Amino acid sequence: MRNILWDGLHQFEFSRGGTSDRSEMREFHDRNHAANYLRSIARGGSNMHVLRRAFHEHAMGADVSRLSDEEIISRLGMLLGQGGLFLSKVDGFSPPVSTYEGESGGDSAGASESGSGSKAASQEASTLVSVSEPKDDSPPEASGLLARSAKVAGVAKISEQLSAALFTEGANTQCTSKGAHRWEAKEAKGKNRLSQKIDDAKAARSKGAQFEGRAAEHNMMSGDLKRSSQLSGGTHAEKVFWTCAECGMSREGDQLHDGATSGSAPIAVEVKNKSKLGEQDLRQLGRNIQAVKQGGASGLIYKLPAGKTGDYITGQVNAIGERLGCPIRVIRV
Ligand SMILES: [Zn+2]
Repeated sequence: MRNILWDGLHQFEFSRGGTSDRSEMREFHDRNHAANYLRSIARGGSNMHVLRRAFHEHAMGADVSRLSDEEIISRLGMLLGQGGLFLSKVDGFSPPVSTYEGESGGDSAGASESGSGSKAASQEASTLVSVSEPKDDSPPEASGLLARSAKVAGVAKISEQLSAALFTEGANTQCTSKGAHRWEAKEAKGKNRLSQKIDDAKAARSKGAQFEGRAAEHNMMSGDLKRSSQLSGGTHAEKVFWTCAECGMSREGDQLHDGATSGSAPIAVEVKNKSKLGEQDLRQLGRNIQAVKQGGASGLIYKLPAGKTGDYITGQVNAIGERLGCPIRVIRV
C-alpha cells in the first residue's frame, strides 16, 4: 500500500533519497517549517493515518501506537528538516477529488512564512478536504474523475452544504419568534447509572447506538462525561435535549460536557458514525453552531469515525466550522 499525502495542491510520497530536480520535491527550511506543514495537512485527522504509517515504515519499526499525533508530526518534521527523509511528488496516481476550495488562507502554517512562498503555503493550508466524496456510507476511495470538473462540482457542493448549515430550518421548523431558535441545554433525569446507559448502548442492535456507546465510554474514561444526566439514553426522560427558549421546540443531543468553569454553559457533543454529513446532519451542525454563538453552549465537539472512513466527514465538519467561524473539536473514535 502506498502512503500518498495530498495537500490540496500536490501528492507526495515519503522517500529516503532526494532528486536533483528540485521541482519534484517539497522543500523545507528546517524542522519547524516541515512540522508546521505536516500539522496543517493533518488537521482534524485527515492524512494523519498516512503520516503514522509512513513514520512506522521509515523509523525501523518504532512502536507508533505509543506516540501521539503531535509526536509523529514532530519526528517526521525533524527527519524532513534534516534531510533524513524527503517528500517526492507522485506521478501517475489518480488525484483525489478536492471538494472544498478554501477561500481564506492565513492560518498557522501560512502565517509562519513570509515572502513569495506565503501565498502558496496558505493555499495549501486552506484546502480542507483531501479525499473523494464517499458514495452513501461506503468508505471513500480516490476517484478517477477529472480534477477540473470535480473542482467545479466542489464549489457548488460546498455552497449547498453551507446553505443547509446556515439556514438551519425548513418551512415546518421555523421559530415562532420569527428570529432564530435560541438553544438551551436540558440534561436528562439521570436516574440510570452512567455505566449502565453505556452498556445498554453498546449492546444495542443498531451500529449507530453501539458507536455512541463506545464514544461515551471513551468520554467517561477521559473524565469528560461525568454524570448519567449528561448522556442521552433510551427513554424520553433519559435523553439530553436542546430546547428553544422562545418556542419550546426541542431536539435530542448526544452528550453534554461541563464547560471549562463552573457555571459556564455545557459543551455540546455530537456523535456521528457515518462517513458523510447528509442534509439533516448539516442542519443539525448549523443548530449546534447557533447554540455556541448564542452562548447556550460553550464549545462543540464532534466524535467521528477513525481511519479512512471518517476522513470525508471530518473535512466537512472542519470546513463548515471554519466557514461559519465556529471552532469545532473533532475527536476520532
Ligand atoms: Zn424557537
